[in-house]
Amino acid sequence: MINIKFPFALTLSVCYAIPGRVVSVEGKTVVVDYFGETRKAHAVDCPVRPGEYIYAQGGIIVGQISEAEALPILAAWKERFFELKKVDAELSSASTEARGALGAAIKKAMAGEALSREDMLAVLSTRNPAQLETLYFAANRLRKERLGNACCVHGILEFSNHCRNDCHYCGIRCGNRTLKRYRMDAEEIFEAVGHAADKLGFKAIVLQSGEDSFYKDEMLAAIVKKLHERFGILITLSIGERSRECYRRLYKAGAYGALLRFETTNEALYSRLRPGKKLADRLELIKWLKRMGFVLATGFLIGLPGQTAEDTANDILLTKSLGPDMHSFGPFIPHPITPLASAAKPAQEDVLKAIALSRLADPQAKILVTTALETFGPGARAAGLLAGANSLMINTTPPKYRRLYDLYPGKAGTDEPLEDAVRKAVELLRSLGRAPADLGV
Ligand code: SAH
Repeated sequence: MINIKFPFALTLSVCYAIPGRVVSVEGKTVVVDYFGETRKAHAVDCPVRPGEYIYAQGGIIVGQISEAEALPILAAWKERFFELKKVDAELSSASTEARGALGAAIKKAMAGEALSREDMLAVLSTRNPAQLETLYFAANRLRKERLGNACCVHGILEFSNHCRNDCHYCGIRCGNRTLKRYRMDAEEIFEAVGHAADKLGFKAIVLQSGEDSFYKDEMLAAIVKKLHERFGILITLSIGERSRECYRRLYKAGAYGALLRFETTNEALYSRLRPGKKLADRLELIKWLKRMGFVLATGFLIGLPGQTAEDTANDILLTKSLGPDMHSFGPFIPHPITPLASAAKPAQEDVLKAIALSRLADPQAKILVTTALETFGPGARAAGLLAGANSLMINTTPPKYRRLYDLYPGKAGTDEPLEDAVRKAVELLRSLGRAPADLGV
């Protein structure tokens, strides 16, 4: 069991989770109280008792703090928590009445009914600005009604840009011979995660890389184990297709999350854009990760050349059917040194519509504003959060490597010091009435 200590001032300004008090424990399922609201969390490897204080991420208990430390944090949060809720309520109070097929789809979602494919296509074909605004209001309202104002904030550490794959959309594909490659060693990874967790209060870190076989299973397991033993965080792997044995080993070492997108449900597009790869294999792995007990994030790319509204509707339906803990999808941004260099970039509106539709189709889901959406400009993140999203990602990769993790051009925050990025995220969440927390499931 990990006991986390934060300097109090830091905890107040940038802590990414609010401690909860354990109300009851039944086997591995723990009921946790947050200011009178109860949530469930899973105790994978840390036995807790009623009355103790814990941090949960993705529905998993990641750490414990003493009552003496938790009480002042909670006292400071309590007032702010209710103030934030008020702001959130105001921002989601606008009318959600719309005419025609869009209005019918919104009504269904609000009443807890499943959307049909026709409803989804009607939402995706909305172009009228006033109607789009109503769609975003409705998705935002549904998010507030079903999930409250908690917003989880994950850090992402891009630890290697080596990749054996040649995906046509991706700037770090092996065919890009102009890219300077890097790998972080175990110590650098430990230091970067330590900085994010200990100094800035992150409670969830995604370890992402190209498909890099330099890191043998045992190396990755040793890295994960050390991070897990030292920091009270949810560790999520985003390392592509590795063997089940590898993933099993990494879960055992303490990485309880996996982020693996299926990229597109369009099989022909998939095999054209990912040479030598099969959609069925990727989907099998994603389903297995979920069965294995991983906290799963999955999703797709929006705006790939040749993709249709039907494809996007299928992508959203498939994401939902995979039962992920988080939907992670974003715009395809053409990269100059790829076969898709001259393809068109989708519009911000296409991504916001997909966020809103995912919320209507899967009201209980966590939906991420991905870094790629932020390439549309400084307002894109807020727009995503106001269109139904409720999770954020902050890049915690050391500055000297950030530019080299070149998936797509114009990546937001490439030159920004991490402390500034954190401050900005906290300010944004505050202005939108969201609590930077992950309060279990
Ligand atoms: N190797 C890991 C991590 C891949 S990078 C894996 O295979 O899962 C993470 C994600 O970046 C990919 O899943 C893809 O959806 C996204 N990505 C790659 N190229 C992109 C581009 N040009 N625009 C937007 N997103 C891109």
